[in-house]
Amino acid sequence: RFITLEGGEGAGKSTQIRLLADALRAGGIDVVATREPGGSPGAEFIRNMLVNGDVGRWLPTSEALLLSAARHDHVMRKIRPALDAGQWVLCDRFADSTMAYQGYGHGLDHGVLTALRDIAVGDTKPDLTLILDIDPAQGLARAASRRGGEDRYERMHVAFHERLREGYQAIARAEPSRCAIIDASAGIDAIQAAIRAAIADRLGV
Ligand code: C5P
Repeated sequence: RFITLEGGEGAGKSTQIRLLADALRAGGIDVVATREPGGSPGAEFIRNMLVNGDVGRWLPTSEALLLSAARHDHVMRKIRPALDAGQWVLCDRFADSTMAYQGYGHGLDHGVLTALRDIAVGDTKPDLTLILDIDPAQGLARAASRRGGEDRYERMHVAFHERLREGYQAIARAEPSRCAIIDASAGIDAIQAAIRAAIADRLGV
């Protein structure tokens, strides 16, 4: 099984993926938890270029290409082999992030991004995508307190994060059998319970 977690800043994806991996492992499931951008040595190298490169802000199209190159490496070198070995893969962000951030957020053409996605992932598509939905003001406040103040994310306009949220909602509407929207304004335990309920409902586990 291949499960992805998606959402904007401060939605709590990394906390939730950790709790979910622990719970599934306690139930005897062999779980690989991974993340994007990154997840394999080559993709982490590209993440570093994206996040720490001293090059000013990347153009959105360059970002989309770098993210896609990283995703292809991650899929081919880590996700696909794990799935083929019968493991469950939990991924913090995947292709929907590129559609949300570079597509809905930065306005890149959705058809181009869909073509890039198909090149990057082939037929390795998530069985279930959990979209952690939160009001951007609340999510950005959480992210700011976690990182100890202002950083590059908060400098992005709130309108950008509103577009992200709308993008994720549109993705969920277009593929309702793959996507479940989780209310991420709740507390950690309540969010985890909603995630487990969605997995039980969609995957029967
Ligand atoms: O989820 P995480 O904080 O690890 O993601 C790293 C950052 O990379 C995000 O906060 C986001 O701003 C950025 N990102 C992006 N475009 C994507 C995916 C992530 O700009 N497609």
